[in-house]
Amino acid sequence: MMIKNSPLIFLLLVSFPGVASTLIHCDKLIDGISDKVQTHKTITVDENRITAIKDTGTRSGTKDQHIDLAGATCMPGLMDMHVHITSELSPDRYIDRFRLDPQDYAYASIPYAERTLQAGFTTVRDLGSAHNLSISIRNAINAGTIEGPRIYTAGKSLATTGGHADPTNGRNQALTGDPGPREGVVNGISDIRKAVRQRYKDGADLIKITATGGVLSQASSGQNAQFTDEELIAIVAIAKDYGFKVAAHAHGAEGMKRAVRAGIDSIEHGTYMDAETMRLMKKMGTAYVPTIIAGRFVADKAKIDGYFSDLVRPKAASIGPLIQSTFAKAYRAGVWIVFGTDTGVSPHGDNWKEFTYMVEAGMPAMATIQSATREAAKLLGVSDELGSITVGKLADIVAVSGNPLDDIQAMGKMRFVMKDGQIYRNR
Ligand SMILES: [Zn+2]
Repeated sequence: MMIKNSPLIFLLLVSFPGVASTLIHCDKLIDGISDKVQTHKTITVDENRITAIKDTGTRSGTKDQHIDLAGATCMPGLMDMHVHITSELSPDRYIDRFRLDPQDYAYASIPYAERTLQAGFTTVRDLGSAHNLSISIRNAINAGTIEGPRIYTAGKSLATTGGHADPTNGRNQALTGDPGPREGVVNGISDIRKAVRQRYKDGADLIKITATGGVLSQASSGQNAQFTDEELIAIVAIAKDYGFKVAAHAHGAEGMKRAVRAGIDSIEHGTYMDAETMRLMKKMGTAYVPTIIAGRFVADKAKIDGYFSDLVRPKAASIGPLIQSTFAKAYRAGVWIVFGTDTGVSPHGDNWKEFTYMVEAGMPAMATIQSATREAAKLLGVSDELGSITVGKLADIVAVSGNPLDDIQAMGKMRFVMKDGQIYRNR
């Protein structure tokens, strides 16, 4: 103990900071860019950056930390472009909104963030939370207070009165009030201007809108168009002033086309996407974030009496099962596909199941992994830092047992998780 605490040793340690590197020995390596799997590669990490990728050889540098991932496949940290990190669906969801306070939701979210990171998702895009909780959680993770993925968040999403994401849908008159831009309810250009600027002030990273009706809101239509062309054009223009990208929830084709024509960056769900919309998306370079797992999950729950209200249940039963076949068509048509799950509908940590549904619908396993790495980084606009295992990029590296190209179920066998050079899982 005396020696360990001696000033000499202390001086030696502080004189040579960062001498030790972390060397990750990968049996197989999917780098996020190449279509080929590399074998027996060693990734060197110094501080929070990837500094070398070499053939695994003899070990040197006694101070270095070695991570042996025999039988595993390394890949870039996975990125889910559609989650709700501050909620998880349950039959009590509706009544909870009257019973729970924001701080209750905040504490409940901590394990959601932990589970997401443990499942290998080192980056997520949060597309809507109440009370700006996703902004607070992002800040707490960045400060190291709690463990979770890098979060890019929209804060509270934008809807029109009675639209999907109007927080007072289905409430009695005394509780309905008249929510406005601050609460994410906008009607007309001046509301939109205020709402986008409010999100900038709140510290959001992007804008989310609900371009059409949705499944889980207390409203009759799951697919009607809910914004005018004029409103959508204004959202995109004002968002651009603040460097915000715009994600649009959309089930119906009309609302989807309006949003795509207005220049939004991604269509979420896209259930009733027709051939014309697909052509338009390809022309505009719009991303499609399918969220197949959410559709399957709600369709499954719609079979249970009392899980959903009478208004929601038929929407969940009819819209839910269609997403996977829409995804298959969109993929074949060459629409830009980016990985996203709408997790928070399905349980946090199950995000990986989306890979299995994408493969089931005809997308090659390698392309599904690239959609959750390289393509997601492109959609976020962070390709220079994330999305591939490349020298110079941030050290977000994960590894699964087995080879996902042989069996996509391997994506559920997360063995190693590193985010920003720090190890969060090593089994
Ligand atoms: Zn969502």
